Amino acid sequence: MNWVKNFLFKILDISYFLTQGFYKSQIFNQELNVRVLIYHDVKTEKQIKLFKKQILSLKKEYEFISPNDLDKDFINTSKNKILLSFDDGFKSNRKLAEEVLNELNIKALFFIISDFVGVKKQSEKYKKIIHNIYPSGPNKSELSDPMDHDDIKFLISSGHQIGCHTLSHQMLSKISSLNELNKELISSKNMLEKDFDIKIKHFAFPFGTYDSINQNSLKILDKNYQFIHSGLRGNNKKTTKLIYRDAVNPEMTINRFKAFLIGNADFLYKRKFKKLNKYLN
Ligand SMILES: [Zn+2]
Repeated sequence: MNWVKNFLFKILDISYFLTQGFYKSQIFNQELNVRVLIYHDVKTEKQIKLFKKQILSLKKEYEFISPNDLDKDFINTSKNKILLSFDDGFKSNRKLAEEVLNELNIKALFFIISDFVGVKKQSEKYKKIIHNIYPSGPNKSELSDPMDHDDIKFLISSGHQIGCHTLSHQMLSKISSLNELNKELISSKNMLEKDFDIKIKHFAFPFGTYDSINQNSLKILDKNYQFIHSGLRGNNKKTTKLIYRDAVNPEMTINRFKAFLIGNADFLYKRKFKKLNKYLN
């Protein structure tokens, strides 16, 4: 069904041209909008260049906020906000922070798989987790190294924040054992907090789709984290525990990227988000 997907993407690209004026004048100045972006492994020199170009282009229209600002009240501010997040903890994240984020003084949120930190490619642990990250692969270009302890220390000392992305990146909705779920959601957090001497407030669901999120895990997360990050697209208008996020990548065309940011695909996720949000509190 690739052609259906491509067709829908084309409509999304065109939608940016049709709606950008409307959104700018009608909506953007009235409500708080915080879009949280998800990037993953941004590894080649070309991708890093494209990433920097995207960020510089966004800087003209958006204000970048730090993960610490997510619980602040933005109602009286006029500029739309962006928070950057990076999932899975690949080595390239450190390079990106060093070469782009730190230079532009942007603070981001890095979601770490606790059992993946510093593992060697030949190890069984690496094979297991990389397969959990790419269930239908991984292909050769996806076999990247994870960050090690020093890389993560570097991110923290640069003012970035670390969030938890489970112990081994399993699809949480498929885990039936409560003991195993607790390991993925809580032991992982404790491990990161102890290893890096930090407090962790943020959790991101592996995959982040509606099907990957379930009531059991949300109940546990509710008690243990301040923010739970999904992969459902939308505007974060007030400080809720469940967070909308937009998956993007450096190779995305600028029109598609901006169509996502002005919310042209949000209608696909709203109902699902509300359903999940009901399991909290
Ligand atoms: Zn992930």
